[in-house]
Amino acid sequence: MGRKKKKQMKPWCWYCNRDFDDEKILIQHQKAKHFKCHICHKKLYTGPGLAIHCMQVHKETIDSVPNAIPGRTDIELEIYGMEGIPDKDMQERRRTLEQKSQESQKKKNNQDDSDDDDDDDEAGPSAPQVAAVQPQASYAAQWPSLGFLRSLALLGCHLEDIKECLL
Ligand SMILES: [Zn+2]
Ligand SMILES: [Zn+2]
Repeated sequence: MGRKKKKQMKPWCWYCNRDFDDEKILIQHQKAKHFKCHICHKKLYTGPGLAIHCMQVHKETIDSVPNAIPGRTDIELEIYGMEGIPDKDMQERRRTLEQKSQESQKKKNNQDDSDDDDDDDEAGPSAPQVAAVQPQASYAAQWPSLGFLRSLALLGCHLEDIKECLL
């Protein structure tokens, strides 16, 4: 644990960019997919090996590696498992792997931070509003109801008198 330097890169196929858990499986994959003679299905070990085989046995010229992605079809390159991969492609691979792991870390961080910002403004304004409602309510409760005024009128009192009584 602890030392991150010289992290072993996970095996991958230079010809088709596939990942592999084990370099042995990668080599089997390369022999089956990229170094196999399309005429007699013999599995060779490298691109040049395949080209020489086809030339010598079948009198055929092969100019690109079978099943390879564009730009990775160079039959002259002697690649076996993870050996022989051009330096620039190894560096590019390392860079894309680092970018991927950084991006997934960023996503995780964003999810963790999300509930820090809100909430603070809600409680403040509502408290004065509650205080303002209460005096209105008690004022209305003290005011005489229409029914009370009507019963006073029925008793024969004038409105002027009622006002005077209330004041
Ligand atoms: Zn491959
Ligand atoms: Zn053959």
